[in-house]
Amino acid sequence: REPLLAVTDLVKHYPITKGLLRRTVASVRAVDGVSFTVGRGETVGLVGESGCGKSTVAKMVTRLVQPTSGSVRFAGTELTGLRARELREFRRRFHIVFQDPYSSLDPRLRIVESVGEPLVAHRIATGAAKRRRVCELMELVGLSPAHIDRYPHQFSGGQAQRIGIARALATGPDLVVCDEAVSSLDVSIQAQVLNLLKKLQRELGLSYLFIAHDLNVVRYLSDRVFVMYLGRIVEVGPAAGIMQRPAHPYTDALIGSVATPTSSGGFRRSRVVARGEVPSPSRPPPGCRFHPRCPEAFDLCRVQQPPAYRLTGDRLSACHLRAGEAEGVRDG
Ligand code: SF4
Ligand code: MG
Repeated sequence: REPLLAVTDLVKHYPITKGLLRRTVASVRAVDGVSFTVGRGETVGLVGESGCGKSTVAKMVTRLVQPTSGSVRFAGTELTGLRARELREFRRRFHIVFQDPYSSLDPRLRIVESVGEPLVAHRIATGAAKRRRVCELMELVGLSPAHIDRYPHQFSGGQAQRIGIARALATGPDLVVCDEAVSSLDVSIQAQVLNLLKKLQRELGLSYLFIAHDLNVVRYLSDRVFVMYLGRIVEVGPAAGIMQRPAHPYTDALIGSVATPTSSGGFRRSRVVARGEVPSPSRPPPGCRFHPRCPEAFDLCRVQQPPAYRLTGDRLSACHLRAGEAEGVRDG
């Protein structure tokens, strides 16, 4: 059976223009050949520092942004190139939850209007039926249906994000894309919202594409994890395996910069391996894009881009150091 979502060789380049004639002088290679699948009922994590192209992937998958090239197949149908009218039918089957919980809620609208808006837009329910459905959705995300006539500012950040999730679930989607959906919340509230997402997945059979910069958060929810760096996937594997035995120096660095709780109740940042900042995607480094920051870089890394090596245990690693243990190279 075909996976719910299959993304192949997805590319997004933004032109950089100059002067009055807006001549294209370069391009920002935000996403540069990304492939992955999300199975039915599966959670796939996409992790990397900000500026690595994760949000652009999220927007291409949900068709808020048109890809430069590549394929997005949803439930067996190619979405790229579909006309607006054809796409409408699919729009009720996937939704995105953003980082800022208030951004998807119009501050001037009562909750019943915001959460009910997709129901009206997709001609699912209006009037009393819409109110009933919004009440159900509020209960589903652990909020009181008595509050549907309130305004967004009357809710805390955690509650507002639950409302954002309720809105995303209104049309009964198969796939929910969460783009840093818990990143702006306090750690304790984060845990509550993550647990809510798990519960909703069990009850509704949802698939998630779960995007975050914090590997710990991603690991908690995900079955498989894709690590992204400067527009490319550099490592793939089961969530537990990636944390215990990272197969790419960039994943090492991400784990190194993760805050771990200490016995005294505080947080400690373990070793940080990667030097400096993510370079600009308008001028990605030659060879392995991670080489200017990689503590293990050697001569080959500066000139040759590593292929995605297939390793044991459903792992992929795009690092020259893995060539010796590779069982092959990912085709395509
Ligand atoms: Fe580091 Fe070289 Fe591996 Fe890139 S290919 S991650 S620079 S060791
Ligand atoms: Mg982002």
